[in-house]
Amino acid sequence: MSSAKDAPAASGAELIAVTLKKQNVDVVFGIVGIPVVEIAEACVAHGIRFIAFRNEQSAAYAASAYGYLSGRPGVCLTVGGPGVVHALAGLLNAKLNCWPLVLLSGSCDSDQVDMGAFQELDQVEACKPYCKYAARPTAIDRIPFVIEKALRTAFYGRPGATYVDFPADFIQYPIRHRESIERVQMPAVPNAPMSQAFESDLQEALSLLNNAKRPLIVLGKGAAYARAEYEIRQLVEATQIPFLPTPMGKGVVSDTHPLCVSAARSKALKEADVVLLIGARLNWILHYGHSPRWSSSVRYIHIDISPEEIGNNGAPTLPLLGDIKAVVAQLLTQRLRRLSSQDAYVKGLRDKVEQNIAKMKANGQKGTDTSILNYHTAFTVIKDLLPTDEVIYVSEGANTMDIARSYFDVHEPRHRLDAGTGATMGVGMGYAIAAQQYYPNKRIVSIVGDSAFGFSAMELETAIRSNMPLLIIVINNNGIYHGLDKGEYEESRNKGTLPTTSLSPETRYEQIAEACGGKGWLVKNRVELRKALQEAMALKNETCVINTLIAPGGRTKLEFGWMSKAEKAKM
Ligand code: ADP
Ligand code: MG
Repeated sequence: MSSAKDAPAASGAELIAVTLKKQNVDVVFGIVGIPVVEIAEACVAHGIRFIAFRNEQSAAYAASAYGYLSGRPGVCLTVGGPGVVHALAGLLNAKLNCWPLVLLSGSCDSDQVDMGAFQELDQVEACKPYCKYAARPTAIDRIPFVIEKALRTAFYGRPGATYVDFPADFIQYPIRHRESIERVQMPAVPNAPMSQAFESDLQEALSLLNNAKRPLIVLGKGAAYARAEYEIRQLVEATQIPFLPTPMGKGVVSDTHPLCVSAARSKALKEADVVLLIGARLNWILHYGHSPRWSSSVRYIHIDISPEEIGNNGAPTLPLLGDIKAVVAQLLTQRLRRLSSQDAYVKGLRDKVEQNIAKMKANGQKGTDTSILNYHTAFTVIKDLLPTDEVIYVSEGANTMDIARSYFDVHEPRHRLDAGTGATMGVGMGYAIAAQQYYPNKRIVSIVGDSAFGFSAMELETAIRSNMPLLIIVINNNGIYHGLDKGEYEESRNKGTLPTTSLSPETRYEQIAEACGGKGWLVKNRVELRKALQEAMALKNETCVINTLIAPGGRTKLEFGWMSKAEKAKM
């Protein structure tokens, strides 16, 4: 037995690592540097995986996505100053998405504050606007207290971001008696407590739903986060009410369910007279709940954990305040009316869904096997070759994300990640890495625009080093929204009239994968895309990039589905 004298000295870093372990943190996303290397090393020594990124932005995005997927806060570790500023992007993104994230960062020695210290920044102040809680422990032995509070606050109530600041002297502080690390520990945070809706609200909701002529259920990513799929699927079956998932609400009930009206979205919004919103906000994604996209006489019933959200933007709303799983279970105990499949409203939506899906299929077949690809023909090839389940989709970009959303059906909740409430570009690589960490045996498929991919392409090296066999398909149209073909690009560049949306044509993104030790393909038509996909799918342990050139689109006018007519007119 070694004597206490021989035992390696413990430190504040070890206290932090032991605390994280006690709190059941199994992975930390981040980048080391002075003064947090010791924290990362101590985490690894205590059996916590540390995934070392190339930019704190991606690490913070990854940690927040891990929080969303796992239902417990994701943890990110960075250095101070610039490291924290990079990670602010992740805090904002987590706040906007309502995802649980804890950022831990090193800061300058506590006796050097305000002296122009190394990477000095008032980080608690900098993080506060994006955080539910931001603090620095007042003493070394308060570290477990502050970490526990940060973790608990990040995922109790409406999930969001929190921040803990560790001065360098706290991290390095030698702890002579190892037992004292145990003595100051806090109990692990249990799962979030659940609340239920008020009985009279429940009865009113029931009467609204049962008397509605054209009811609609909207499923948001809050429903996916709440792990309420079992209850929600029962609700849909019991009531036969058509449902519409938001981009990340997809899969709570399968996209191929006959009541899914994604392909008739505009019609469903316009016609609905009573809408049951489950974990979705009436923000820009849902056109604020206002006409003309929605009927001017629509009534909303809103299931959400956050009272401040209810009635936001002035829409007439009945609250069902509480945890989605618990509140939907409450609804299931009531006498629910069942809509007939012969109902004219349901049939009308169903017909529209079928027409639109047929149109999409026809679009995907256009051109020949060797013609230049477009979104539709490329996605059709990809859809035909990918397995129908055990795939996690990650998507970012403008058109790439919007169009891909309708092509790729999702059957399980938390199986699709995208730019989200913040429309945040640059999340793709971080999200894909987080998804592979959470689902080690599933196929992670990222379908990303060329511009979006550029924000975090260097994280390919992170994925390859971390043994993550991601499949990344870059849909490359030489630009943001759209780009120019080679000839027009050269001409404009020479004249100094390059559009601000233009990126270098045919950039060899697949070679970045090769340069980092992965595999890459450049494809220009259906035949090449098919072949590359088949080869990539056959590889089980390689990180793959398929650089898919599509028609650049030229100088087309910018237009997006989420903008209402009035907003377009203002532009
Ligand atoms: P989407 O973008 O899919 O429409 P949002 O992010 O706008 O979804 O909305 C998610 C909502 O879910 C938030 O208002 C959040 O408060 C809510 N939420 C998250 N977790 C729960 C839960 N367990 N129970 C109830 N509501 C929840
Ligand atoms: Mg593009």
